[in-house]
Amino acid sequence: MAAESSAYIALGANLGDVKRNLRRAIETLDATPGCRVTGVSPWYRSRAIGPGNQPGYLNGVMALATTLDPHALLDLLQALEAAAGRERMVRWGARTLDLDLLLFDELSLADERLTLPHPRLAERNFVVYPLSDLAPALHLPDGTPVSDLRIALGARGLEATFATLEQSDD
Ligand code: ATP
Ligand code: CA
Ligand code: CA
Repeated sequence: MAAESSAYIALGANLGDVKRNLRRAIETLDATPGCRVTGVSPWYRSRAIGPGNQPGYLNGVMALATTLDPHALLDLLQALEAAAGRERMVRWGARTLDLDLLLFDELSLADERLTLPHPRLAERNFVVYPLSDLAPALHLPDGTPVSDLRIALGARGLEATFATLEQSDD
């Protein structure tokens, strides 16, 4: 059996039945051969970035143990986005599901499809907060502790929720 890697994936949605879309993504990943969801963060509400007057997001992070390579995992994440009915129209427009690969082991890479760590991880509190809740002692490949990023960013525009994904959208 191939060795397992440790990956962190950011989940976000602000369109449609948000909780259902997020729940489905987690369940489908966990049911995929070679993938095991090992943790899910608390959920946060955040203001939308990007054009127009969009609804707020529900954001969280999950931890994954996987035997897939990073590009195969990205393929899978994009297939899940497509299955949730995501249409790429406007950059940073409203979406039913966004799955960003944040970290994959200690890998740093950049090619036409994939950059690791995710290039905007360190500037987004809606990613750093749930990530550090889930893995408080985690470091980026360059050694930066996620707990330092959390302090530097602060919680502006971010609201902790006690939301679970059990009920459908409120
Ligand atoms: P942002 O990247 O700022 O969060 P976004 O999530 O709205 O914006 P998308 O339209 O979902 O952007 O993705 C654009 C492209 O980013 C994808 O086609 C994918 O190939 C590329 N990409 C590069 N690195 C990553 C990564 N670490 N995780 C997910 N997608 C990535
Ligand atoms: Ca994104
Ligand atoms: Ca994305």
